[in-house]
Amino acid sequence: MSSHDKTAGVPTPDKTDASAVKPSNFLRAIIERDLEQGFQPARHFAGSPGDAAHHAAGPLDPARIRTRFPPEPNGYLHIGHAKSICLNFGLARDYGGICHLRFDDTNPEKEEQEYVDAIKEMVAWLGWTWDAKDGAGREVDHLFYASDYFDFMYRAAEYLVSQGLAYVDEQTPEEMRANRGDFGTPGKNSPFRDRSPEDNLTRLREMRDGKHPDGSMVLRAKIDMASPNINLRDPALYRIRRATHHNTGDRWCIYPMYTYAHPIEDALECITHSVCTLEFEDQRPFYDWLVEHLAQGGLLARPLPHQYEFGRLNLTYVVTSKRKLRQLVEEKHVDGWDDPRMPTLVGMRRRGYTPEAIRAMVESTGASKTNAWIEYAVLDGYLRADLEGKAARAMAVLDPVKLKLENYAEIFGSLEHREACSAPAHPHLPELGTRHFSLGPELWIEREDFMETPPKGYHRLFPGNKARLKYGYVIECTGCEKDADSNITAVLARLVPDTKSGTPGADAVKVKGVITWVGAHEGIATELRLYDRLFTEAQPDAGERNFLELLNPQAKRVVQGYLEPSLSAVAPDTKVQFERHGYFVADRVDHRADAPVFNKITGLKDSFGK
Ligand code: ATP
Ligand code: MG
Repeated sequence: MSSHDKTAGVPTPDKTDASAVKPSNFLRAIIERDLEQGFQPARHFAGSPGDAAHHAAGPLDPARIRTRFPPEPNGYLHIGHAKSICLNFGLARDYGGICHLRFDDTNPEKEEQEYVDAIKEMVAWLGWTWDAKDGAGREVDHLFYASDYFDFMYRAAEYLVSQGLAYVDEQTPEEMRANRGDFGTPGKNSPFRDRSPEDNLTRLREMRDGKHPDGSMVLRAKIDMASPNINLRDPALYRIRRATHHNTGDRWCIYPMYTYAHPIEDALECITHSVCTLEFEDQRPFYDWLVEHLAQGGLLARPLPHQYEFGRLNLTYVVTSKRKLRQLVEEKHVDGWDDPRMPTLVGMRRRGYTPEAIRAMVESTGASKTNAWIEYAVLDGYLRADLEGKAARAMAVLDPVKLKLENYAEIFGSLEHREACSAPAHPHLPELGTRHFSLGPELWIEREDFMETPPKGYHRLFPGNKARLKYGYVIECTGCEKDADSNITAVLARLVPDTKSGTPGADAVKVKGVITWVGAHEGIATELRLYDRLFTEAQPDAGERNFLELLNPQAKRVVQGYLEPSLSAVAPDTKVQFERHGYFVADRVDHRADAPVFNKITGLKDSFGK
């Protein structure tokens, strides 16, 4: 953990008024100040990204601010990205601005279309859109690719060279590293630093034209090798790398460095507030240096973008680094990027987490100058607060044992009789209607609802005790059946007449225990995937430990259970509350009407480690 890190005092959701908590957000203060001071009154935006001339010829910008979410398409988005997404799109929404979705695809090696598609899908899933009206009232898609700016970036590089602001360095990578110095030692100038602009231009063009092998030289900014900020010690701008790019193919064999490309991308898109995470703080002086020089040369439109840094969001019990998530997938510790244990957005969606809950959790953290650790339980709290008011109820038995009603035929006249029962689909949402199910002579109940010799305070089934079948009758337990190994194979009980829920006098027999159940004649056999925290410790990748050793072996358990018949035809992705067990979702990938699969989203209350 860096000195920036701390556990933030994040407000927990309060069912009655979660929205009343106004998280502090220093970025809002900056934007409000800028808007109050009538900032950038004459900002132009041509309707598409471009250089100074392009925007100067365009109309005034209809957006009061412009922000962007700039993912690199080299992996799937995770919960940390949701923070950046909600911050950037949220600020644009709140201040009459527009947020761009920009793929930062300047690195040819690890980027793929698969990731581009998945990222777009998840930003939309979180509820954001990147189209908005331009100055002429036309609908414009603010979806951009940094690789579309390669021509401009190269032109800017030639400009810097021509001004003596950049040079081609032919030192080996080892020499460059050694000559960079460190925090206490100034760097040493490269022997190639004082070549003329003409010489450098020739060499830059040779680099571009493929005249030199990969890694043999780089283009560097000429700033100050003695700067106390190491990022200003002549940072690299371009490298030679023969690699096929997913957008530009083999057109280029030189590629811009991220620190060079990013400020240019922002400026070409007329971004006003470029929001990034804290680790880029030391890059800001170079960001400003670069855009200022290019604006002076008439290449970039003024006003120039400004970078602001905020603290990352970390969630306990998971890791949020693409590299580590990739390792989990590639080494098969999980079943893919969308494994419901993963903190990827595709994984969380499959797990049944709602965009509303993720957004509420992320927005509750505001924006600050410290990296925050958010308790996983806080996310679960927002989930429950969201699902409680939406999810229909149902009974499900997760660890089934048979319950035989010995006097069933006596009471109802025949073993074939089915006694109709019903319950509201949701206690507070009558519009969701009524669930129907029925009693028969054999039911499925939870194995833990019977004990031969119960401890004190146990109110469910044991010989001689009475309990209520939820929405049904009071029953009196008479004993159980066992196999040769003394395993309990069935629980035995008798119905108590005239105690059916909802009928007059049903409460005459007082009981303390309530039993959830599913009729054996109509229960739907289902696969249940019971998920829990991915890691056993809150900060699995802190310190020197190997986070893989802290994987929670109990994070996924698969069991077979039974569902009440109201769930016979639910669509994949339907969320329900299994009474007393928690929230579940029909798996969006594997669930079929004839072979149901439900994932556990979260329990009814926090029970981790209990
Ligand atoms: P990772 O470190 O997991 O590889 P990244 O930052 O390299 O993530 P990008 O695709 O570059 O991945 O991220 C896109 C945006 O999301 C960046 O602006 C980045 O700062 C932001 N972001 C990434 N992780 C977090 C986080 N944990 N909290 C807040 N913002 C984040
Ligand atoms: Mg990054």
